[in-house]
Amino acid sequence: MRTLSILGSTGSIGRQALDLVRQHPDKFQVKALTAYHQREALFEQVREFRPELAVLAEPAEGIPEDLRFCRFLYGEEGLLAASSQVNADMVLVAIVGIAGLKSVMDALRAGRQVLLANKEALVTGGHLVTEAAASCGKPLLPVDSEHSAIFQCLQASGGNRPVRLLLTASGGPFRTWTKEAMAQATPAQALRHPNWSMGAKITVDSATMFNKALEIMEARWLFDMPAEKIQVLVHPQSIVHSAVEFADGAVLAQLGVPDMRVPIAYAMNYPERMTTGTQPLDLFTAGQLTFEPGDPERFPALRLAGECLRAGGAACTVLNGANEAAVSAFLREEIPFGAISEAVEDALNRCGHLPADTLEDIYAADAAARRCVAQRIAK
Ligand code: NAD
Ligand code: MG
Repeated sequence: MRTLSILGSTGSIGRQALDLVRQHPDKFQVKALTAYHQREALFEQVREFRPELAVLAEPAEGIPEDLRFCRFLYGEEGLLAASSQVNADMVLVAIVGIAGLKSVMDALRAGRQVLLANKEALVTGGHLVTEAAASCGKPLLPVDSEHSAIFQCLQASGGNRPVRLLLTASGGPFRTWTKEAMAQATPAQALRHPNWSMGAKITVDSATMFNKALEIMEARWLFDMPAEKIQVLVHPQSIVHSAVEFADGAVLAQLGVPDMRVPIAYAMNYPERMTTGTQPLDLFTAGQLTFEPGDPERFPALRLAGECLRAGGAACTVLNGANEAAVSAFLREEIPFGAISEAVEDALNRCGHLPADTLEDIYAADAAARRCVAQRIAK
């Protein structure tokens, strides 16, 4: 029996992880669950999975009588308890955004096995997170589907040296749109992802392809590969979840229908495998599998990823912070879709040179990037 805390349990990844716990009650016991504002959803989860700790952003009035067995905590204090004080074997960090960085660091410092869905932690604090994982002696287990695919391929390397990572991308809902059409796309259009059902922020990131930029950065840290050796392949069918090219010329890929429960399950039960309830892949009905290069002209994120990694310092943090702020503004209908990447480039030009040696530096660069976006919107 493995014990597990899930941070961001009411989100898309969190709910799918709980579905796996539900399928395998003999394998996992939930110790802590955290949400942000979705109190009713959290109450329901507490009722079903009976954790010892539950966390919300703010104190909630009227915790139901039947949930008195569970301790409720709030805000930072609650997240700290869930990530490091509750005695769980594993912590799944499925919070969205840089808000997940602190929890990842706290969990690692407490010696927990981290299952990492939150890519923004590696994007912004890659060197600190990988150092903390190395000193706690428990490698990060990737949950992001592409990184899980790469991780699975690497398990079969048999000493073969990986020379290139082939990172697939669906291309999102605007893969075939012109730049002009995309510039005016609405939130409803951006939220209609062709293959994956995910939280709002990552769905918009898929539409701008900032998700792939963040994933290049994530891969750089997880697999210690320079940006030059990470190739993006737009693969609209989302069947090949990514691949690794080895020194002997072999390319190993991981395939399956798009269902996040597969990579989540691999991390939860690593190195063992378990059933997930996913549909089997039928290659006859899947149709053609196609691959095309990404277009950095229509999707500037693809160019910015390599530029930021080469620039070092806080460039990746600034890209991430500006993107988070711009995506929120887009979802509130304050800026058009085309303004997201413009706002990120502007923030990079203005504060991309900041340092990122410590957590304090990283939060300062993140705040500076958000200020740049806010000022731009106010103008
Ligand atoms: P989501 O928006 O559906 O859920 C986010 C969860 O985090 C919710 O439980 C929410 O209550 C909580 N949360 C939000 N802001 C918070 C804050 N400031 N502090 C504490 N908790 C907060 O997001 P998601 O789609 O599940 O994605 C979660 C993470 O996993 C993201 O980093 C995303 O990039 C990554 N990821 C998601 C998918 C997917 O299929 N959804 C795939 C790959 C990677
Ligand atoms: Mg992904």
